[in-house]
Amino acid sequence: MRVEIRGLSKRYGRRTVLDGVSLSIEPGEFLAILGPSGAGKSTLLSAVAGLLAPDAGRIDLDGLIANDPAIRIPPSSRKVGMVFQNLALWPHLSVEKHLSFVAPGEDPTPLLARFGLGPLRKALPAQLSGGEAQRLALARALAGNPRILLLDEPLGSLDRPLRDRLAQEIASLHASSGTTTILVTHDYDEALRLSGRVAVLAEGRVEQVGSPEEVYRRPATRRVAELTGPVSFVPAPDGREYALRPDEIRLVESGEGEAEVAAARFASGRWRIQVRFRGTLLEADSPVAMRFGVRVAVSWSEACSRVPGREGPPGG
Ligand code: ADP
Repeated sequence: MRVEIRGLSKRYGRRTVLDGVSLSIEPGEFLAILGPSGAGKSTLLSAVAGLLAPDAGRIDLDGLIANDPAIRIPPSSRKVGMVFQNLALWPHLSVEKHLSFVAPGEDPTPLLARFGLGPLRKALPAQLSGGEAQRLALARALAGNPRILLLDEPLGSLDRPLRDRLAQEIASLHASSGTTTILVTHDYDEALRLSGRVAVLAEGRVEQVGSPEEVYRRPATRRVAELTGPVSFVPAPDGREYALRPDEIRLVESGEGEAEVAAARFASGRWRIQVRFRGTLLEADSPVAMRFGVRVAVSWSEACSRVPGREGPPGG
C-alpha cells in the first residue's frame, strides 16, 4: 500500500502535536519514524490507522483520501494491522481467539506456528510472558493479511535478548511478506537497523528523511545527529559544527596530545573512550583500552558531516 501524508497537523488545546507533517511511504517499504518521547509519533501513526482525525492535511492510502469526511475510509476497511505500545490484548480471549476475531474463518494455525504460539493457543493474555504477549500482538496485527503494518514501539518493554530476537523476526517478516510497514520508535538502533528509510520527527515536525546511513552520516541538523546515534560536536571553522560519530574520531596516545582520557568502557567488542577536548567531551571508538588521564591526540576527517551550530551558522 502506498501512503501519502501531506501537511498533517494536530493540536490538543494550545499544544501543536503535529505541525504540517508530509511523508510518502512506497508500497512494500519499511519506514521508521524516529523521535524522542512526545514528538508526536503515536499521534501520527494513529492518524494513518484512522483512529484519530487530524485538524488539517490529508492522508492518501493508495490514492484514496482516507481522512476526507465525504469518503472517509473507516479503520476497519483500511486493511491496517497495528501493534499498540501497550499491546491492547483482549484479557478474556485466548491466544487463538485473538486471531480468529480479527480474521474469522481463517485457520490461525500457520500464524501461531510462525510466532511460536502453537502450544499456547488456549492460553489467556494473563498467562503469557512479556515476549509471548508481544508476539501475540504481532500475530494479531498480521491476521487478515493487512496491506500495511503499523508498529508503535513494538519491542518497548522487552529485555535486550528478547528485543533482538523479535527485531529479527520483524525484519524477516517484512523481507518475506513485503507488507508496507511503519515502525515508530525512540530507539535509534532499532530504527536504523530495521528500516529502509528513517523519518526523524521532533516537536511534531519531520527534520529529515533518509536512509539509515544518510541520517547517521549526514544529519541535516544537530537535533537529527543527536537523535540518530552517539555523537560529539566540535566547532568547525565555518561557524558550523562537526557532528562526529565515535567511529569517525581517531585517538592516538601522545604526550603532546591536546586531549585527556576521561573514561573508558567496553561495549560490543570495542572500547568507547571519552576524552576531554577543547572544553567538551568527545566519545570515540578505540580497538584498545586507554587509561584515565592519559594524553591523546584527536583527529577526524574533514569530510565529516557538519551541522548548523547551537547558535546557527553566521548570518543564517
Ligand atoms: P510520542 O509517540 O512521540 O511519544 P505522542 O504522539 O504520544 O508522542 O504525543 C505527543 C504529544 O501529544 C504529547 O505531549 C502528548 O502528551 C500529547 N497528547 C497525545 N494524545 C493526547 C490527547 N488525547 N490529549 C491531549 N494531549 C495528547
